[in-house]
Amino acid sequence: MPLHGRARGDGAGTSGARYGDVKRLSKLLFVAGLAAGCGEMNAATDDVPMPDAGTDVVEGRKGRVINTAGVGLSLREGPSRDHAVKLVMPEGAIVDVIGGPTDNWWNVTYEGTSGWAFGDYLDIYEPGEEPTRTAGFNRLLPWQPGTSRRVTQGHNTGSHTSYNAWAWDFGMPIGTPVLATHAGYIRAAKGDSQVSGCDPAYVNDANYVVVTRSDGFESLYVHLDSVSVAVNAVVKRGDQIGLSGQTGYSCGAHLHYQVQAGPDAGGTTFFANQSIPSTFFDSGAPYDPVLGDNLVSQNSPTSTVP
Ligand SMILES: [Zn+2]
Repeated sequence: MPLHGRARGDGAGTSGARYGDVKRLSKLLFVAGLAAGCGEMNAATDDVPMPDAGTDVVEGRKGRVINTAGVGLSLREGPSRDHAVKLVMPEGAIVDVIGGPTDNWWNVTYEGTSGWAFGDYLDIYEPGEEPTRTAGFNRLLPWQPGTSRRVTQGHNTGSHTSYNAWAWDFGMPIGTPVLATHAGYIRAAKGDSQVSGCDPAYVNDANYVVVTRSDGFESLYVHLDSVSVAVNAVVKRGDQIGLSGQTGYSCGAHLHYQVQAGPDAGGTTFFANQSIPSTFFDSGAPYDPVLGDNLVSQNSPTSTVP
């Protein structure tokens, strides 16, 4: 499925009834976000002249909606906030760029609808490239706030290559509570294995949880000893989803964590999908952990990230 080609609303058909709960949560967040002043729609009005549409057109250029704090990004009839909103594109949405920029407004097409979107909330990338801006995927560390864990493998090293490239391993004694790094619903979970080995042959013996957001992006937690959430359950950031372990392909007790594109964001229905760039925000600024870091979590249901 192409990233930019998914049909509107197909998430409701593939994810079960609880997906609607997440949609409603998103709507609440949308209202709350406006009240809090985040997102393009509530930013200061500016005076932007009418554009020379279609300048600087690059065939195949795309953009990804980022950094809207769940509010989404308005697709407007023209390149300023004076123009009416056609629809709101969710965080993570992929658009085709058909023109611009004109004073930081891009002419884009999203799911068959063309309009203009404000560039501060678009990660523009060229044909053959991947989106690289990470601000839209800040997360808080997946363990109890105030406690420290050591990074035992960074991203793009060791076994973290290919679709696992943007993954991290955190050393954890078996039985350490594992917390959701963002709100969403449980798309997939397995908790019945006690088999492990230091060999790729054990990869399918891992216990895991996948938490999926309403925009289709999700987080994956692997090697769990036990799982405490059911498929389709809705969780908040900071909710406990299981206990860490060493099931599956694991050479010692640890948690494997990655952010990935789920079925509604172009991925597959398998538990592991293409990982995507992400950072952690516990220290107050986006941070990419590396081997040997000792990191203190700030994760809780009331904590916030941009
Ligand atoms: Zn790993």
